[in-house]
Amino acid sequence: MPITPTKKIWMDGSFVDWPDATVHVLSHTLHYGTGAFEGIRAYKTPNGVAIFRLKDHMERLLRSCKILMLDVPYNLSDLCEAAKELVRVNDLTEGCYIRPLVYLGYGEIGVNPIGAPVQTAIAAWSWGAYLGDHAETGVRMKISSWSRHAPNAMPTASKTVGGYVNASLAKVEAIKAGYDEAIMLGPDGRVSECTGENLFIIRDGRLYSPPPSEAGALSGITQSSIVKIANDLGFEVNFEALRRDDLYLADEAFLTGTAAEVVPLSSVDDRLVGDGKPGPITTVIRKTYHQTVRGERPQYEDWLARV
Ligand code: PMP
Repeated sequence: MPITPTKKIWMDGSFVDWPDATVHVLSHTLHYGTGAFEGIRAYKTPNGVAIFRLKDHMERLLRSCKILMLDVPYNLSDLCEAAKELVRVNDLTEGCYIRPLVYLGYGEIGVNPIGAPVQTAIAAWSWGAYLGDHAETGVRMKISSWSRHAPNAMPTASKTVGGYVNASLAKVEAIKAGYDEAIMLGPDGRVSECTGENLFIIRDGRLYSPPPSEAGALSGITQSSIVKIANDLGFEVNFEALRRDDLYLADEAFLTGTAAEVVPLSSVDDRLVGDGKPGPITTVIRKTYHQTVRGERPQYEDWLARV
């Protein structure tokens, strides 16, 4: 998806003009993937622009960095304030996407990163529906021939830059085969997650999602929001291992992620999910999520950080 430039990018404590936010070609992360990132959204609410679950995202960024032994020179509050200020200086409102990145800059080469400078940047721009128009009607999914990497090959709880080669291979395979998105199975053959989203299925009125740590999936912040929203709407949610035939036989299914939001699945490997149209439970959960992020559900006000 193309990027629409804004005015400023926050880099190591300063607001830099968009075209000047560059790195040296010998930056360590560019060669070895040694970095961590986040994806966050902000929305227009009745009381001004708000970043959704900002603190949770920045906490996850710091956890990713801890796993990768990246010593970030900013604390949680510094990062949250920088993100808010960035949204303000760029006059961003509805559909704003925020991308914090901690990376290793120029200074060392070779797989040993020790000594390379830890650098931090946050960019923000206006970004539409991540899965395009199909987000309304349902997306066609393909189970990837690539497995989600095993936890002992790559930490699955960290949004590691290099880890996304795995997701990217699966995404390209699915798109080239004519699908919208890929579902990845873990090394044990159980359902893990999508390339940038978690997965839920619905059977007999109950929701099921693979338990992130066992499934080697990222612990999604949208996934956790949906668990709370679904419970509050009276639906039971189970974290349970899923097989690919559970996907084929689901009454309804949807994926969740900050960029994608809540998107119904219309088919998996050419088998229709239900009748192929967004089901009633998915529809009510999706609508409630959209209202929540836009400040139209007062009980979830704590999730909003006003800029
Ligand atoms: N899984 C992966 C691999 C992801 O990259 C993302 C996006 N961060 C998700 C799941 C969904 O996470 P979240 O809801 O926190 O955006």
